[in-house]
Amino acid sequence: MTAPSTSRAYRLLAWEQPPALVEVPAPVAGPGQVVVRVAACGLCHSDLAMMAMPAAIGDGLGWQIPFTLGHESGGWVHEVGEDVDGFAVGDPVAVASPASCGRCRWCRAGQENACASGLVGRGYGRDGGLADLLLVDDLRSLLPTGGLDPALAAPLTDAGATSYHAVRRILPRLRDDGTVVVLGVGGLGGFMVQILRALSPARIVAVDPDPGRRALAQRYGADAVLDGVRAGTGRELGALLGPDGADAVLDVVGIDDTIACGVRALAPGGAFGLVGAAGGTLRKPWYGTLPRDGELFTFQGSDLADARAVLELAAAGRLAVDVVRFPLDEAADAYAALAAGGLEGRLIVEP
Ligand SMILES: [Zn+2]
Ligand SMILES: [Zn+2]
Repeated sequence: MTAPSTSRAYRLLAWEQPPALVEVPAPVAGPGQVVVRVAACGLCHSDLAMMAMPAAIGDGLGWQIPFTLGHESGGWVHEVGEDVDGFAVGDPVAVASPASCGRCRWCRAGQENACASGLVGRGYGRDGGLADLLLVDDLRSLLPTGGLDPALAAPLTDAGATSYHAVRRILPRLRDDGTVVVLGVGGLGGFMVQILRALSPARIVAVDPDPGRRALAQRYGADAVLDGVRAGTGRELGALLGPDGADAVLDVVGIDDTIACGVRALAPGGAFGLVGAAGGTLRKPWYGTLPRDGELFTFQGSDLADARAVLELAAAGRLAVDVVRFPLDEAADAYAALAAGGLEGRLIVEP
């Protein structure tokens, strides 16, 4: 048992050094603050990038090191500070990690993902959820789980909400009798297939080189799957789509090949959303090669409305959260498993 005055935390102690599980003083809820007892924290590939990040970049982002990793947290309200309404000890909650000020023009419009405060968040630049206890100092970020197990709610705050955001962007272009293509159906792409299935009757085509992921995508509601993306996928996709093409493509990979293949598959008026951060490029003269009347959009995380909506879908049983569980004292092994890949489910670490 952990002594009540301390919390175990998996922390990045110095740049370019492996993180370590250490004991830290337990956070205390000040006025307007809540301490959450963590049920689970999801692991994200961006954590691996943080562990390898050079000091110049981390410092440039204004991050305070050391900090506790983990930006997909769920748990139960453990302590409530003064002047906190609407939350009581024991409530199941999820925590949105990006900070948002609530006052700037982006926050006022519900675009918290554009708030300048979001460059620092719980788990990147300040203490996150890979710990027994997590301090939430802005109640905007505390989201009721609506009866959903908070351990399953954890990965929805980032992976789920990000996927919801992407689907929300293309929905206006997706007709009920149309087709949407998801390129890459790992963690995010799997959520996208499920969210699309819940929100649209359109045909869903899932493209992935991994047979296990393709099978999972079919279980999640994909109508057709294709082995890819590689040379030849564009042609196979074209044959599958027929002359109408795709109303929308979500590219969760983002290499040259997926971008080219996705853009080529679009119907007139179609939308291509670039979500994958692999750094691919598109070089096309716009006339004659890009979809007529089409839309290409870029992408950044999610806002609080996305997180609430995706939690609601899961609480209503319309979105499955498949997880692979590790205990907190095996966090290093969990990250090694994440780096090795091939997991069929979101990795969560449970204190
Ligand atoms: Zn993430
Ligand atoms: Zn703001």
